[in-house]
Amino acid sequence: MNHHNQCLPLIAVLLLFIGMTACIDRPAEPSGPEVSASTTIPDTVLSISDLHLDVFYSSTLVDSLRKAPYREWAGIFHRLQQSGFGQEGEDTHYNLFASLLQDLPQKVQNPHFVILSGDFLAHHFLGNAEAAGMSLHESQDFLANIIRLIADQLQALYPNSVFVPVLGNNDSYCGDYKVTPNGRFLSDMVPIWKQLLGKSLPPTTFSSDFKKGGYFTAFSTANHQHRILGLNSNLFSKSYMESNHRNYCGSNLSWSEIQHHAQEHLDWLSQELRDARRDTAQVWLVYHIPPGINVPGALGGSSSPTFWHQSFSAPFVDTLNAYRDVISAQLAGHTHMDHFMIFNDDSGQASSFVHITPAVSPIFKNNPAYFLYTYDAQSTQLLDYTAYYFQGVVDATQTQWKEEYRFQATYAQNGINAQSLDQLRQDLEQNTTLRRGFRLNYSAQNTSGAYVPTSNNWSYFACALTADSTYSTSGGGCIELPQR
Ligand SMILES: [Zn+2]
Repeated sequence: MNHHNQCLPLIAVLLLFIGMTACIDRPAEPSGPEVSASTTIPDTVLSISDLHLDVFYSSTLVDSLRKAPYREWAGIFHRLQQSGFGQEGEDTHYNLFASLLQDLPQKVQNPHFVILSGDFLAHHFLGNAEAAGMSLHESQDFLANIIRLIADQLQALYPNSVFVPVLGNNDSYCGDYKVTPNGRFLSDMVPIWKQLLGKSLPPTTFSSDFKKGGYFTAFSTANHQHRILGLNSNLFSKSYMESNHRNYCGSNLSWSEIQHHAQEHLDWLSQELRDARRDTAQVWLVYHIPPGINVPGALGGSSSPTFWHQSFSAPFVDTLNAYRDVISAQLAGHTHMDHFMIFNDDSGQASSFVHITPAVSPIFKNNPAYFLYTYDAQSTQLLDYTAYYFQGVVDATQTQWKEEYRFQATYAQNGINAQSLDQLRQDLEQNTTLRRGFRLNYSAQNTSGAYVPTSNNWSYFACALTADSTYSTSGGGCIELPQR
């Protein structure tokens, strides 16, 4: 059949149906799988995590910033620039952040999405602010301005991108793991989040969802059938309910209050996924703290080394399994390392995955790194990523961010999905050369940290590549927990 120059309505509808938007003069596409391959619309996603921008390494800097409105801060940072890029084992000094800002446009011009998977603020922010003589109120204003500064400077690089920022455990007015549902921090962040999300905002529910619990839905501007749910997984984390972190705002929430807020969040997630399925949309989940095994915790002797409380990880994994046809990717941060976790269904089949973007902060003795993904804007499937890293913190002669590796070429997998990552997990068991490469990539080629994978402790890391709902007390059967 020759239809090169014809635009019959039925054919037009069929072409639209298979994802072509115009009836143009070109050879007829062959039928079969090649058609969907030919309709791939590659686009890019820049993923940056755990920025942990610090200022307390210089009292001169802190004093100058305190006296100035935040719109003058960039000039102050520039004027008071110290040499070097900070220290291994410390959070991100401004020079390191500035080098990232300088590097990014050289690597990507106009990413469709910029994922910021949490922890904008440095560790011990409120403690350091208190030691610098700030009242709690001043330190809260100060930290909000740090987040504004990061948002402004990144958005200036990519004014047309949809930013998807999620909250990390350090992003709070009340201390580490102390974000308060319906609190002042969440309302103060609303305009910053709205500015970053830009055109992707849904018309009505953003502010109420975000003020309530720090979560939201973003819509792709390239594909109306593509949504991103920004979760606040801090509410599910074990550290959120433990009292070993100081609450600068007063007393902690009770367990029943935490359960209430976490359940509200899980209910919201289910509702959003139901709506997405109804609208035949595909969804990515972005969050800071992943479920699954906390390997440094396990290696450090924790008797229950998981990031999330079992009360919330179990229903979460059930939800992932129930909506595996709707969820095409999950991206997270928090561990500061380069790895992934597979979620299995009840029959042991890989049903979903979360891919972890490593940190910019070198605090855990990793090299600073970030990912640039390619994805198919049509199907929303992740295709590949390039890892970039920076050695200048540990080696003063290395002042450029460089390509570290490419996923497809390094791991010989086609696409980033539950099946390809589960295959990679199995390959890492068999192939010692591949495993050695993975171990080096894990901390972006800096192996001086306390909890990097070695040939002796590999079983812990291998175990943590799977994150189903059964691991909480037993380690999923694959981590031999220390006897206490
Ligand atoms: Zn972090």
